Amino acid sequence: MRQIYLLFLAVVVVEAQPLAQQPRIREAIDAVSEERIGATIQKLASFPTRNTMSSEGVAAARQWIFDELKSYSSRLEVSLEHFKVKKSEDRIFRDVDLYNVVAVLPGTSMRDTQVLITGHYDSLNLIPMPGESTEERADNLADRPVKYDYTKADVRAPGANDDASGTAAVMELARVLSRYEFPKTLVFIAFAGEEQGLVGSTLHAAQAHKQGHTIEAVFNNDIIGGELAGNGRVSNGSVNVYSDDIVDSVSQAVARYARRFGELYLPAMKVNTVYVQDRLGRGGDHTPFQWEGYAAVRFSTPNEFFAHEHSDTDLPNFVSVPYTARVARINAAAAATLAMAPRAPVVTAEAKTGALKGRQVPQLSRGKSRYDAQLKWKYPGSETNLRGYAVVMRSTTATDWEQEIFVGNVNEYVFKDVSVDDVRFGVKAVDNNGNESLISAYVFPPRPKREVPVY
Ligand SMILES: [Zn+2]
Repeated sequence: MRQIYLLFLAVVVVEAQPLAQQPRIREAIDAVSEERIGATIQKLASFPTRNTMSSEGVAAARQWIFDELKSYSSRLEVSLEHFKVKKSEDRIFRDVDLYNVVAVLPGTSMRDTQVLITGHYDSLNLIPMPGESTEERADNLADRPVKYDYTKADVRAPGANDDASGTAAVMELARVLSRYEFPKTLVFIAFAGEEQGLVGSTLHAAQAHKQGHTIEAVFNNDIIGGELAGNGRVSNGSVNVYSDDIVDSVSQAVARYARRFGELYLPAMKVNTVYVQDRLGRGGDHTPFQWEGYAAVRFSTPNEFFAHEHSDTDLPNFVSVPYTARVARINAAAAATLAMAPRAPVVTAEAKTGALKGRQVPQLSRGKSRYDAQLKWKYPGSETNLRGYAVVMRSTTATDWEQEIFVGNVNEYVFKDVSVDDVRFGVKAVDNNGNESLISAYVFPPRPKREVPVY
């Protein structure tokens, strides 16, 4: 990279400003209360169960979450999002009314653009069928799948780590961030039906897509309270952020954003960008948003205690409140920064010719000389406080951007003698306050298969 770096030094036209903490975001992060997060986890775990299929427990829990959210601020628009879910399989053994609890903090100038902070408030205690082993409590982990009696939905299911921890983070961030106004809309959601197969999030994401909602990022929190794994491994200085397995996907861009701004405000925490969709054989509420084309990530502890999961021993005393609060603060840093930032530049346009004709392709070419890198982009809004754009680049084998060059308030740029075949490019918008958008990467779709007629 040294050679390319020197080349770039010659073409820098405007000095990039160093990354700085925003006082308002610093203040919000510092206002995140361990005490409140601890009390919320205790309260949620005290309901006999929060199983979506339970006869009563879940209704009491959601009503408590709803009332709490309402009490935080008159700015929060709190509602119950109701779906009637049909009986369909073992886990949904009867028709059921499902309610997500949603709190919206409307944006000021980019109201149509949403940033979501989510978790699931439902819980589960899996009761094995008679004759089945009770040792392997977490489903999908055993070599031999254990058969469970899902109709036992009223047994005690405290769900402290899974996922009172994530719900407590969502609620605390709703409380703290609703003291402020943001240009974009922040949406805080406690989903139901996660344990029945991501049901609440699937229905919400599909409806958002159908209604044409712009969701820039989903920060999902699920099992964010554990410091101790079942094998004795201990750590509380890092959090895993799962995105997906597609290089330079929009979800990976959100994961990198969470690391950049999470570690800016909490340098003691390491944000592990894990470029896989989720933990082995497991699922989470970020995935249904990816199905609908949205960018979504999952925060989760690297240290899981499988024996407690989906059992009556998922209790608050196995949850670290300080650790949960640190993960909540990482969320606050990333989501609040993004809610203040410009929109991400659009780097694609419809291909007029070639094998990808008619498809959206990145506006990256070799320029007139055929030996340069010419990048074009557009800003998808009418914001007037843009300082300009920064182009980022890296080797195709690197996992994060290695170079960043601020190029000014322009919509195209030519990097002399940089071969487009050697590197990956991206671009982000930066406003006058130094707020940065998500990075849009220049990624070509794979070449379509060709059918060759023979006779
Ligand atoms: Zn969970």
